[in-house]
Amino acid sequence: MNNTEKNVGIISKVAGPLIVAKNMKDVQMYDVVRVSDKRLIGEVIELRGDLASIQVYEETAGLGPGEPVYYTNEPLSVELAPGLIEGIFDGIQRPLDVIYDQTGDRIPLGVDVPKLDRNRKWNYKSVVKVGDYIVGGDVIGHVQETPAVLHKVMLNPTLKGTVTYIYDGEATITDVICKIKDDNGNEHDVQMLQKWPVRRPRPYNQKIAPYEPMVTGQRVIDTLFPIAIGGIASIPGPFGSGKTVVQHQLAKWADADIIVYIGCGERGNEMTDVLMEFPNLYDPKTGQNLMKRTVLIANTSNMPVAAREASIYTGITIAEYYRDMGYKVALMADSTSRWAEALREMSGRLEEMPGEEGYPAYLSSRLAEFYERAGLVKCLGSTDRTGAISAIGAVSPPGGDISEPVAQATLRIVKVFWGLSASLAYSRHFPAIDWLKSYSLYEDVLKEYYDNNVKKDWSKQVQETASILQEEAKLEEIVRLVGVDSLEFHDRLTLECARSIREDFLHQNAFDDVDTYSSLNKQYGILKMILTWYHLGQKALKENVSFNKITSMNVLEKIGRMKYIKEDDFNQEAEKIFDELNNEFEELMKGDELYV
Ligand code: ADP
Ligand code: MG
Repeated sequence: MNNTEKNVGIISKVAGPLIVAKNMKDVQMYDVVRVSDKRLIGEVIELRGDLASIQVYEETAGLGPGEPVYYTNEPLSVELAPGLIEGIFDGIQRPLDVIYDQTGDRIPLGVDVPKLDRNRKWNYKSVVKVGDYIVGGDVIGHVQETPAVLHKVMLNPTLKGTVTYIYDGEATITDVICKIKDDNGNEHDVQMLQKWPVRRPRPYNQKIAPYEPMVTGQRVIDTLFPIAIGGIASIPGPFGSGKTVVQHQLAKWADADIIVYIGCGERGNEMTDVLMEFPNLYDPKTGQNLMKRTVLIANTSNMPVAAREASIYTGITIAEYYRDMGYKVALMADSTSRWAEALREMSGRLEEMPGEEGYPAYLSSRLAEFYERAGLVKCLGSTDRTGAISAIGAVSPPGGDISEPVAQATLRIVKVFWGLSASLAYSRHFPAIDWLKSYSLYEDVLKEYYDNNVKKDWSKQVQETASILQEEAKLEEIVRLVGVDSLEFHDRLTLECARSIREDFLHQNAFDDVDTYSSLNKQYGILKMILTWYHLGQKALKENVSFNKITSMNVLEKIGRMKYIKEDDFNQEAEKIFDELNNEFEELMKGDELYV
């Protein structure tokens, strides 16, 4: 043993990823320890007297009682500094790309690769002067981390004092780039690198209620079930219903500066997909690779479950760090069900009292604590800065049944519910977001924003759209019972309008170059056209124009293709279609004056 006896525990039991060790009374909860002379990375998750339960982030096969456990006396932490962006890390921030380059497919045990590159030089520009008094969270300098991200180096939240030294120029993340003298006269070296315990939220000045939409360019989301900047949403859905595609679409298009993507693979090869696919996503905002503003946390299927448990904390701590700079961060977790299963497995190993379906009783509170770390905040520091984390978690309940504990616990917390439907996915209606079951609790606040900033009748139009879709569900019920012929024409027109809303508006092809993104202007414009046709159609019915004529108008085909009109041409094209719509109705009504 290369340590003093006092600081070394002794393994008394090994149960898969869980190890119990004695002689551990001097460690703290959530401290990292190194297990055996293989120096496997573990974290203390329970303390009882001098016994510690340790979850081990690496393969424990071959370990046995009597082997040493070394203290590090540090909590499980992430490293925060330039070099995060474009990184691909595992659940405890080991750089997978670096390890892969050095050792290939399997991560060797006890590997000691620094989380962030210590040798890389960054061009550091100080933004403070000697003599300035600064507090934790204040920005002290800039580094152009990637062409898409200006990294704002901040003073560690725990420090404050007067600047006594600044540095400008090439520096590594551990070089001293600033010195401050605190109020007690002690001098502190400041590096770009900060460490932060993953299970402790980073501080901010004040939380603010979300009020602005996070525009995603996805019509069903922005129009019907919008999410706010700093909001929290959940996408539950069965296998194959489109959770990953929605998450990718949001990563690409959502109004966010930074993307933190936590992938917990569902299928064996799904993570390989993320590792292969995500780094190749094109970023429409910068015209570059999406990785230039992304941090990827990946849990491959051959990684121990404990690392998956830690991954969402690693991810959100990194997200908080960029939030603190004043950025809008979008965090996606795909899927939180895999995370919850890891929690369940560890709880089982701890022989805790199982709750529903074997999940521990603290499942809900852990999920709540995680989502609670999202939000819109006034950032820490003496200058006025707001930052946000919008969090979107996919949930993949077994068999798609959302009455199971993880989905239920999530729904009690999140404010937006995009429920994916197997039958919609089966009929290839994508995104398969069920418009009757989904909801957004931000709707009321965002209404005001949309009406004031997009179009003044935005919310009125949305309201009508929603009620037509609800009406459709009721009418469909009648049609099932007594057939469509029993309906009056004005109801049949409602059905046609609902069909058009579904097919021409809600349906959106993520893989079509144009359709993949719709601006709010375009979303409004398509809907306006559909509803105008509907209003004029109802009016024409009253004037005894035949139902068949109204539903076989030439302009309908054009309305159906509006989503494929490029943004730049949209207003002009929409105007033409609008004229055509009016003219065609005028024809039908033989010269009657028309008002819209
Ligand atoms: P999940 O993650 O829920 O298992 P995926 O996101 O992998 O499901 O989606 C399964 C498949 O459904 C995709 O490979 C794609 O073919 C199709 N799909 C999902 N969403 C869309 C969309 N918005 N546009 C077009 N196709 C989609
Ligand atoms: Mg998926």
